[in-house]
Amino acid sequence: MPAESLQTRNVAIIAHVDHGKTTMVDCILYQIGKYRTEQLDKLAGGQHGLVFDSNDLERERGITIFSKNCAVRFETGGLEYRVNLIDTPGHADFGGEVERVLMMADGCLLLVDAYEGPMPQTRFVLQKALALGLRPIVVVNKVDRPDARPDEVLTEVFDLLIDLGADDKTLDFPVVFASAKQGWASHTVGDRGTNIRPILETIIEHVPAPEVDPAAPVQMLVTTIDFSEYVGRIAIGRVFAGTLKNRQRVRVIDRHGVGRDQQISQLFTFEGLDRVPADHVEAGDLCAVVGLDPVNIGDTLADLEAPVALPPIHIDEPTLHMT
Ligand code: GDP
Repeated sequence: MPAESLQTRNVAIIAHVDHGKTTMVDCILYQIGKYRTEQLDKLAGGQHGLVFDSNDLERERGITIFSKNCAVRFETGGLEYRVNLIDTPGHADFGGEVERVLMMADGCLLLVDAYEGPMPQTRFVLQKALALGLRPIVVVNKVDRPDARPDEVLTEVFDLLIDLGADDKTLDFPVVFASAKQGWASHTVGDRGTNIRPILETIIEHVPAPEVDPAAPVQMLVTTIDFSEYVGRIAIGRVFAGTLKNRQRVRVIDRHGVGRDQQISQLFTFEGLDRVPADHVEAGDLCAVVGLDPVNIGDTLADLEAPVALPPIHIDEPTLHMT
């Protein structure tokens, strides 16, 4: 199959703390596709549950993870997909980090503990996701718990969505029942699944493919800035239009509309927990860009011939006001 046929899905994972986000992402990385590698074993130190939120561990082991994005390749129906899993902070943070990361996604997984049900923090992030037009797939996790009450929890999610003003289509959300801990998911309550694939299949089916025009002038929105001692500022975000090329000269347009022409020195996509050098990244996919300075959250990387900024991210964030 030619590489161009790789399809992309960008999905944000929303969960209240302890509802199992880390365990779920670990499970997906372990079970799916081509990313059951030494690196993951090393990173997890042989333990489960340490991959997605393991900043200290990353540094200790010298593994650079650009933000908390990760990606898996998944084959179904004769097609190959890259599913970008985007971590969202589970807490009501200051400064709009939630909005920023949600802008990279086309849909979300709402992970809810089968006993606890939706919690205030679930509500906070879900509200922001809905405001950005993201529809949730509801994952009732921990259905292995003896005290699990998945049906009631689903009703609570439904009520929450009504309370948040969700439209009829959103209220008709897909549901998956899962035990991330035991490594399975199922479409039917009470059925023990055999693996985690139903989650991926539901993402492929229900999260819209990014709408893209790879031939348009390039526009990438910077949603996260990372820093490395060796390469300096790393701009992470999503290509919304066109194709971003390695070593391309781009205009970096800040939120005041001021543009500076700069050259990308290295371009990366995400593969598992790795950053993988890329020759080009097409609209719809996420990437990391090295070599730009200054570059800030909310900036657009634009075509030199047709430099058009993406709509600004409206976030009242102190770091955004710094130059
Ligand atoms: P996070 O804070 O959302 O990242 O949650 P974690 O993945 O760290 O999980 C919190 C706790 O719930 C840990 O003790 C996990 O072992 C446990 N847990 C996660 N998934 C499941 C599950 O499917 N079933 C049960 N019984 N426990 C789970």
